[in-house]
Amino acid sequence: MRKIGLLAFMVMLILFSSCKHRGKEFARRTYFIMGTVVNIDVPSERVAVADTVIEVFRLVDSLMSPLRPNSDISRINSHNGEWVVVSPLTVKCLRYALKIGSMSDGAFDITAGTLVHLWHFDTEKGWVEPPSEVIDSAKKFVDYKKIEISGYSVRIGRGQRIDLGGIAKGFAVDLAVDKLKKLGIRDGLVDAGGDMYALGEGPSGRWRIGIRDPFHTDGIMGLLLLSDKAVCTSGNYERFIEINGVRYSHIFDPRTGWPVRGVVSVTVIGPNTVMSDGLATAVFVMGPDKGMALIDSLDEFEAMMVTENDTLYSSGFRDFMSETR
Ligand code: ADP
Ligand code: MG
Repeated sequence: MRKIGLLAFMVMLILFSSCKHRGKEFARRTYFIMGTVVNIDVPSERVAVADTVIEVFRLVDSLMSPLRPNSDISRINSHNGEWVVVSPLTVKCLRYALKIGSMSDGAFDITAGTLVHLWHFDTEKGWVEPPSEVIDSAKKFVDYKKIEISGYSVRIGRGQRIDLGGIAKGFAVDLAVDKLKKLGIRDGLVDAGGDMYALGEGPSGRWRIGIRDPFHTDGIMGLLLLSDKAVCTSGNYERFIEINGVRYSHIFDPRTGWPVRGVVSVTVIGPNTVMSDGLATAVFVMGPDKGMALIDSLDEFEAMMVTENDTLYSSGFRDFMSETR
């Protein structure tokens, strides 16, 4: 029995509608880009800026999509072992990826792209389970320390493949928020399929963000109140392949070469979206002990982890949770 699942629900639910409170009225524009639904909420009278802001997602997609043969990432991969000149934005995103790689002791590793590719998670083809000997031999190509950056040139090791799927959306959200600020917007929300930034305030004070219950996807397991904060979720229930009743997520453990098991979702709150996105993926791989210890060692980040039988919180996560729903 083989089932391929792509549940197109949003991880986070923004508890928001175009309503008037204390004089603030917001409007939402929705787009489909980078393989996900992007919602941009801005004050109603400025709704037209959303069409300008979404351009940054198009730019990031054109530079970093593995589906586009001329993207920087595809060119780096097809010229593995050689220097490739890329955009300054790609270099910036790669540097974040390397930073999260070393913070997580290699749990976050964009050269896991080799593994992602074996299962076809980076293509629009049907996802597959590769034979275990193929996984074993691919695993030896996974090592982010072999990535070299010099100016705007990048070289990965021969046989390696990189994939920025773990942070590209967060990176784009931050660029979009910068753009909003440049356009004079002080309150807004940019949500790329559950990786989002809450700028300023919403219709009635801090933005109210529901955390979707991963076991009951039409319910929420808590409500976050956020202002000038990012919140990102990595889960095993949106993109996965199920084989003989076993669910394999699209997040890989670079040490084993196999998809991570046991963790259901990780939600990270932080000062920017790119780091929160990357850390959510990293903590998902690191698991409850090491993952939550990493978050507790970082002043500016908080996390919640749902495993198959438990929910864990970092020391300050619940400070962002509302008492009432
Ligand atoms: P989502 O894309 O659903 O928001 P994540 O942010 O957790 O989820 O990113 C998952 C993506 O990260 C995978 O689809 C893959 O492209 C990439 N990836 C998988 N495993 C790793 C890993 N160990 N380190 C870095 N990136 C990874
Ligand atoms: Mg991520």
